[in-house]
Amino acid sequence: MREFKVVVLGSGGVGKSALTVQFVSGCFMEKYDPTIEDFYRKEIEVDNSPCVLEILDTAGTEQFAIANKVDLEHQREVDFDEGKTLSQQWGCPFIEASAKNRTNVNEVFAEIVREMNFS
Ligand code: GDP
Ligand code: MG
Repeated sequence: MREFKVVVLGSGGVGKSALTVQFVSGCFMEKYDPTIEDFYRKEIEVDNSPCVLEILDTAGTEQFAIANKVDLEHQREVDFDEGKTLSQQWGCPFIEASAKNRTNVNEVFAEIVREMNFS
């Protein structure tokens, strides 16, 4: 089985841990502990190929852009078109997700595997 190492980066509070825990354990973390850095392993199937993700959830003060909390549409900070345009400039996928209601959580990690697998 192929192994993929994933590092989750982004500013504090954007939902790195919630997204990771939702993906790995299927539950939403309400609690906010900005300091914890943790390591997870999860087996998934992407495009019919089983693989293992090793995920490092960083404490993160790094300035990297992500698109989580899509359930909070009324508090949207990044316009969809702005995100989409930026991703095209960067040549990377753009996925809006929600750790809270699990929207696109599997898709985010599957897309990461595809990027590492085929690019
Ligand atoms: P981190 O610092 O990037 O790891 O952020 P956390 O994962 O700890 O999340 C920060 C806060 O945002 C917590 O209170 C989470 O419950 C909340 N949160 C994270 N993801 C979502 C989401 O998709 N929707 C909503 N509504 N809240 C979220
Ligand atoms: Mg965190």
